[in-house]
Amino acid sequence: MCGIVGYIGEQEAYPILIKGLHRLEYRGYDSAGVSMINAKHDLNIYKATGKVAALEDKCAAEDTTGNIGIAHTRWATHGEPNTVNAHPHRSQSGNLSLVHNGIIENYKTLRTKLENEGYTFCSDTDTEVLVQLIEYTQKSQQCDLFTAVQRALKHVVGAYAIAILEKENPDQLVCARKGSPLVIGVGTDARGHKEFYLGSDATPIVEYTKQVVYLKDEEIALMDRSGKLEIINLSNVHQTPEMHILSLSLDELEKGGYPHFMLKEIWEQPNALRTCIRGRIHVQAKDVLLSGITDHKEKFLNARRIIICACGTSWHSALIGKYFIEEAAQIPVEVEYASEFRYRNPVIYPDDIVIAVSQSGETADTLAAIQLGEQKGAFLYGICNVIGSSIARATQSGTYIHVGPEIGVASTKAFTGQVTTLCLIGLAIAKEKHTLSDEMYHMLIDELQTIPDKIQWTLENNQGIDQFAQMFTYCRNFLFLGRGYNYPVALEGALKLKEISYIHAEGYPAAEMKHGPIALVDEEMPCVFIAPKRGMYDKVVSNIQEIKSRKGKIISVVTEGDKIVSDMSDYTFVIPDTRDCFVPLLAVIPLQLLSYYVATAKGRNVDQPRNLAKSVTVE
Ligand code: GLU
Repeated sequence: MCGIVGYIGEQEAYPILIKGLHRLEYRGYDSAGVSMINAKHDLNIYKATGKVAALEDKCAAEDTTGNIGIAHTRWATHGEPNTVNAHPHRSQSGNLSLVHNGIIENYKTLRTKLENEGYTFCSDTDTEVLVQLIEYTQKSQQCDLFTAVQRALKHVVGAYAIAILEKENPDQLVCARKGSPLVIGVGTDARGHKEFYLGSDATPIVEYTKQVVYLKDEEIALMDRSGKLEIINLSNVHQTPEMHILSLSLDELEKGGYPHFMLKEIWEQPNALRTCIRGRIHVQAKDVLLSGITDHKEKFLNARRIIICACGTSWHSALIGKYFIEEAAQIPVEVEYASEFRYRNPVIYPDDIVIAVSQSGETADTLAAIQLGEQKGAFLYGICNVIGSSIARATQSGTYIHVGPEIGVASTKAFTGQVTTLCLIGLAIAKEKHTLSDEMYHMLIDELQTIPDKIQWTLENNQGIDQFAQMFTYCRNFLFLGRGYNYPVALEGALKLKEISYIHAEGYPAAEMKHGPIALVDEEMPCVFIAPKRGMYDKVVSNIQEIKSRKGKIISVVTEGDKIVSDMSDYTFVIPDTRDCFVPLLAVIPLQLLSYYVATAKGRNVDQPRNLAKSVTVE
């Protein structure tokens, strides 16, 4: 999920690799590594946890020579971020080194097979199976590296971008991709020699050459020192490399062409959620597979109640989780602000389950809430994005949301990732408790799998928010209103706007507005209603009417094809239809875009809003 850099040519590889890793740092990572083959055919590998600078320190006294090399920044998904798990990984014989971004879903099966063939593993990563599988294929089938990679990858399920070095053959660099990006740069050095660069995106390449080939899914490429570039796909068909000319500037590329990380992360949501769901739903069997739950089945079957502790955006996703888990699994769920919970001597029973939700896994208050749960003997479960984080380590079980590094301070894809994960957890418990009919269980699983595509649709069919948002730059207040599953969405919409535009906003249950906030409504007050054609639609329509009668401006999020609410609104965002419980995953998208565009129109620093930090490690 983070970064790969590669080089083969006549220049020294190491300085190019290190510079490339620095260029990819914006993607977020937890450890880094490099590998080069020197003139004596030694395949050197150096790794370090933490920043690329730590890797440089480590390499300072080492032999980093060689004009072929690969480098990696790792954002751990399998195994803690330590030097053993960092990439490159070396094959058993020491002949190959490999870097990988992505997740290998069937790594357990592959690992067992390779262990039966006498291979041993030293890391906890899914990646290590790739390097051993490729070596095994090369040896058992007596073929060259390029062929071995192609044959080995036919057995691999999952997402990958990989690059491989072969000690015995320092004139060739092999790479492949499926799901994770990889770009090949084709350049000529000062003395007219052809050379190749490799990057997860074009940032490490653009200062050397503008000519690039974007490797496509299921393609394997061979870069030869002679200047030959060969591409073959998994179905054995040779491909002609398609050359593209880079037009983007370095600065733009670092954000993948987006002006801000936040916008990039908003648009990443369809893919992020595909990764979040991948491997957790058995598509044919229509079944949810969450080892975090099944390994502790008894705890969930006997739980008196679930207490979810969280802060900020995570607290909003926890509320949606509460609604879903109570409905699907029939267990009482309480949602607590971690900072309140930890100091108020709450009643916690040994048969309670305390779930901590935190993107970074480092949120100080949430960590303290978990420690309190531990003292009272409750079972502890973590939902985090960052692998090996403090909360992940402090809990007895858990589920990573796997949405990739989130850099923008205002959370977007981590929110939808948390909601999706909580829904998966609700379904997994419901399965164990038999609280849903088979029909309903399968239908919800089917529907959850359509959500990434529906988010993509929502992103593509709500263009123009940027224009419309300009009108609201002078507003001093906003109200966000929704009912049921969409009440937490109203809270999240208001929080997002506050965080990055500094406009005061409140989220309220739509029916509660009569008990106070309606006093604020006049022609200057925009009211955002989440009004899908589901659940309490008619009641929300009445609430809109009440605001309209007081001349409030209505902005609504409606189901595609809706007429009634659209006609009553000054502006409408559309989302596709889905089950009530999954509406938040779609309805939040236009609200993220709205706050983003209002904030940028006001010239705010959306990625680093004033006074806010990404990982709140103080209470
Ligand atoms: N799944 C691999 C690991 O945990 C690669 C992670 C990455 O993309 O950086 O080592």
